[in-house]
Amino acid sequence: MINYDDEKLAICLCEDCPTYLKPLFPKRDGVFCAVGKVKEISYKKGCLCKMCPLYSDYGLRGSFFCIEGPAD
Ligand code: SF4
Ligand code: SF4
Repeated sequence: MINYDDEKLAICLCEDCPTYLKPLFPKRDGVFCAVGKVKEISYKKGCLCKMCPLYSDYGLRGSFFCIEGPAD
């Protein structure tokens, strides 16, 4: 289980992900592995989570947390 905080947001790679659709987010958002689905994102165009340091640090599994829901 991973929780959202600003320190993790600073590390999160979502902002650079093609699935993220940057123009839809007026301010930086992410750590979807903790917060889960966001209504603005629905089409999968790739997921950077497996390259994120937090993915291995927290032993996460799966991908596309912004569409599929949060990590277990
Ligand atoms: S959770 Fe994965 S697919 Fe969604 S924005 Fe982040 S890196 Fe991209
Ligand atoms: S694992 Fe994915 S959603 Fe979680 S902080 Fe890293 S890039 Fe963001």
